[in-house]
Amino acid sequence: MSAALSLDAWKSQASSLSYRNQAFIDGKYVDAASGETFDCINPATGEVLTKVAAGDKADIDRAVKAARTAFEKGSWSQMAPAKRKKILQKFADLIEKHGTELALLETLDMGKPIRDSSSIDIPGSANCIRWYGEALDKIYDEIAPTGPEAVAMIRREPVGVVGAVVPWNFPLMMAAWKIGPALATGNSMVLKPAEQSPLTAIRIAELAAEAGIPDGVFNVVPGFGETAGQAIGRHMDVDCVTFTGSAEVGKYFLKYSGESNMKRVSLECGGKTPNIIMADAPDLDAAATAAAWGIFFNQGEVCNAGSRLIVEESIKDQVIEKVMAVAEKLRPGDPLDPKTRMGAIVDKTQMERVLGYIEAGKGEGAKLRMGGGRVNTDKGGFFIEPTLFDEVDNKMKIAQEEIFGPVLSTISFKDADEAIRIGNDTIYGLAAAVWTRDITKAHKAARALRAGVVWVNCFDAGDITSPFGGFKQSGFGRDKSLHAMDKYTELKTTWINVGA
Ligand code: NAD
Repeated sequence: MSAALSLDAWKSQASSLSYRNQAFIDGKYVDAASGETFDCINPATGEVLTKVAAGDKADIDRAVKAARTAFEKGSWSQMAPAKRKKILQKFADLIEKHGTELALLETLDMGKPIRDSSSIDIPGSANCIRWYGEALDKIYDEIAPTGPEAVAMIRREPVGVVGAVVPWNFPLMMAAWKIGPALATGNSMVLKPAEQSPLTAIRIAELAAEAGIPDGVFNVVPGFGETAGQAIGRHMDVDCVTFTGSAEVGKYFLKYSGESNMKRVSLECGGKTPNIIMADAPDLDAAATAAAWGIFFNQGEVCNAGSRLIVEESIKDQVIEKVMAVAEKLRPGDPLDPKTRMGAIVDKTQMERVLGYIEAGKGEGAKLRMGGGRVNTDKGGFFIEPTLFDEVDNKMKIAQEEIFGPVLSTISFKDADEAIRIGNDTIYGLAAAVWTRDITKAHKAARALRAGVVWVNCFDAGDITSPFGGFKQSGFGRDKSLHAMDKYTELKTTWINVGA
């Protein structure tokens, strides 16, 4: 991939980019049945990139029908695993081959630095799909330990039609976390990208077809949450919804399921990650650097962002100084400039939401130590500077609610028990981190923190091999790792009587 391109080279490629902007249903790009479109906006400039088909219930119906037909035909669901593997690997190869274009689409569409989309999002998405492709013909089913009068085979079968509804912060990567295991296990899919960032999902649909995924197996319907998203949630012929997004919308999917066909639902929702730094952290510079990146990476639009910096009182001031020194170098800039480390906030609404939280923090008496404002307004983009609050009480709104922007709340503690108590004092449980050189304290903290992942002496580490997902209102079900395949399969027992 071309991470080494200059700003001018990226700009020149961006100017000659063409956009796929329709739904992809049953192997073909099509307009929304209604003919409606919505504006796809570059958040770094406020300009309209293209008009995208606004799919709604009629389009979801068409896509689900195509997915069901393909599933029943067995062109994918019954394909020999070794063959499915090759096709998914080719799909991953094609994503990599078109990496420069996809990275540009991602950056123009949602504002993240090109440096990140080209080195993290696109290669990470390809790697995810390849990993599930590689895994799929290495998984065996089971024979139960029955008595000699029976053979009980326990098989995993695809659930059928999977509806995937994903957010805008890592548009392709969040989709890939669903596509990889759902397709590897033989399902058909309807993917609805977020309305803020539909372009990469739409583009990869034809790459999937080029790789050999049969018509109807992988459909993409762009559109709004309340229309297209809800239609997936309420569809009587969708067997499973896999969702990543806010807890608020996650709860809607539970309701939709209960009010329709009781489809299974898995939810990857928000977080309010505690990043706990104890006075005996092995390396305070490393901890502070990780704390800064942990909240300012991807403009803070990260579900597991380390938005609560929980620091032992005796070292708080030095940690804050160190975090601010790192953050000083992260001024938001043109997302197409390969030197930019922080880009634009995804849209005006989200920017205003984040600025509203900053005002709330000031209003509640937290001490603003850094940032706090909108910047780079000259081109009409939506940029917010890295923002740090000190003297935050964990009861404050900025410590309790997910801001999903570059805003760090610093909270102090006196001993490890208090740190854990504050860390767990949240409705969320997606991730947590603890920094200490004391192995006993680290183990105790890792056990006590109620989160799907606990990092010790690091932050946001992990790869496709380990599961990702939350406790509490961060949702249930796991993405990544072999465990993700459970969500997309049904267990079936075949009990064969071999008695006399
Ligand atoms: P969101 O919940 O607003 O939207 C997510 C998706 O749901 C979008 O595709 C949207 O169109 C759709 N949607 C919105 N309203 C809907 C409705 N009424 N019915 C059906 N579908 C609807 O979230 P967002 O703003 O796109 O993304 C940010 C959120 O995603 C944050 O809360 C973040 O923590 C979460 N997130 C979680 C993870 C994770 O793995 N746990 C990863 C990334 C993001």
